[in-house]
Amino acid sequence: MEKFQGKSIFSGVAIGRIFFFAKSEQQVKRERIEDTEAEAARFEAAKEKTLEQLHALYEKALVEVGEAQAEIFDAHAMMVDDTDFCDSIYNIIRTQNMNAEYAVATTGDNFATMFAEMDDEYFKARALDVKDISERLINVLSGKQDAADLSEPVIVVAEDLTPSETVSMDKSKLLAFVTRLGSSNSHTAILARTMNIPALIGLDIDPAWNGKMAVVDGFNGALYIEPDEKTLEVMRAKQQEEIRKRELLQQLKGKVSETVDGKKIRLYANIGSVGDVANVLQNDGEGIGLFRSEFLYLEKDHWPTEDEQFQVYKQVVENMAGKKVIIRTLDLGADKQADYFNLADEENPAMGLRAIRICLEQPDIFKTQLRALYRASAYGNVGIMFPMITSVWEVQEIKRIVNLVKAELDTAGISYGDVELGVMIETPAAVMVSEELAKEMDFFSIGTNDLTQYTLAIDRQNAKLGRFYDSHHPAILEMIRMTVENGHKHDCWVGICGELGADMTLTETFLKMGVDELSVSPTFILPIREIIRKTSIQ
Ligand code: PEP
Ligand code: MG
Repeated sequence: MEKFQGKSIFSGVAIGRIFFFAKSEQQVKRERIEDTEAEAARFEAAKEKTLEQLHALYEKALVEVGEAQAEIFDAHAMMVDDTDFCDSIYNIIRTQNMNAEYAVATTGDNFATMFAEMDDEYFKARALDVKDISERLINVLSGKQDAADLSEPVIVVAEDLTPSETVSMDKSKLLAFVTRLGSSNSHTAILARTMNIPALIGLDIDPAWNGKMAVVDGFNGALYIEPDEKTLEVMRAKQQEEIRKRELLQQLKGKVSETVDGKKIRLYANIGSVGDVANVLQNDGEGIGLFRSEFLYLEKDHWPTEDEQFQVYKQVVENMAGKKVIIRTLDLGADKQADYFNLADEENPAMGLRAIRICLEQPDIFKTQLRALYRASAYGNVGIMFPMITSVWEVQEIKRIVNLVKAELDTAGISYGDVELGVMIETPAAVMVSEELAKEMDFFSIGTNDLTQYTLAIDRQNAKLGRFYDSHHPAILEMIRMTVENGHKHDCWVGICGELGADMTLTETFLKMGVDELSVSPTFILPIREIIRKTSIQ
């Protein structure tokens, strides 16, 4: 047995095999081969296996997300089987004596370039599909396992995981995350907390661990490779203890989140997908205070259409059955990237064209989302909030676009509900103009993750800056107090949806400040309710 020490970003114990997640961008070796027929047969076999994989993905998507989404895998299968595509690969193998991986990569590049240069938007978008199928074929040829192929739940070990890699993984197969890079406020860490799985960062990972049995102890940040019987026994006991504690907390379900002296606070949940709603309901979330809608965009290889979005929002709203659902408009850019966004490289992405700035610069993308949100609002209790606000004019422009969307829906005879509008307070500028913003909005939601990043000038992704990322810094606490005071002056309720909202050492402070709502990962709801019910703020 070997023990490695990292930093825990979410507690819990996981026991299982390691899946070493290698990045999909791969270095394809150019190798000369003698037996071209054997190489062609190797490609033929890989092609068959790829088609099987795509067929299985189609079937799975059909059940989980419906036919419209599943069709992409059908389209990919047709491309893999396309005569021109395959002829080019056989040609490179047979006439240039090259290995199959190289032949696939070269053909994939050529076809992708050809599609990208076409005028037709539909064909342009196919460039990404070609890239995707080439990577899949190369993975099969090089024997690399795909996360979607896993037959048993695993502990995923990786150098780093981007939010889009994380959301693409099959949640039912994830026991834990272990990465070398990343920080506790990165979006991948937030996703781990939302999924309720133990996660560690800062470990010197080793590809040789792939397939080995391991234990992740998210309580003290340790990873055990090939654990001995005694360690397994201790860890199983820890797991049982955790289950017992959770069962005890279940008794708080249905109870009000109220202090001993009668101060109530709303306990909402943060989610990233429809799949998280079950977790919210199991933990008795009183509503959803932050639905990070951008994850919907990260799962796709194209801008999600109005209808695709509407179906997702409607499902969340209906499942919450009349409870409040606050959906944040897309917060893309910075670490949340996908190829099809086509965002230019920036010197300072965290301060670049992101979130509401993309929406105001590309109003068509914004309007598509707003139409989907307003249509979904007819099915329940929806709030919409806007990320990365710094100025009052932004809010005025947003309201103008919202009114345009509502007028279009009226003309089309499409109904929608009463929607509360709010902004995220996550820049120091927004705090300083919060009194003016409060006059325009129904609510504020304080995003302490970014507020800390921008106030302390600390990159929230940078693991090396951990001890400087002081979310209890007096400047942050004073900004929260000030935001609550300014919001309340103009009937604007104020919540906290950043990770600090779940910091139980501050629950009493937030109650005393008059915070109206805390929105936290679903698993924190009952533990925080327990604290609230024992607190007196007089
Ligand atoms: C925040 O910044 O605190 C927040 C809730 O948004 P995100 O973590 O998604 O940036
Ligand atoms: Mg933020």
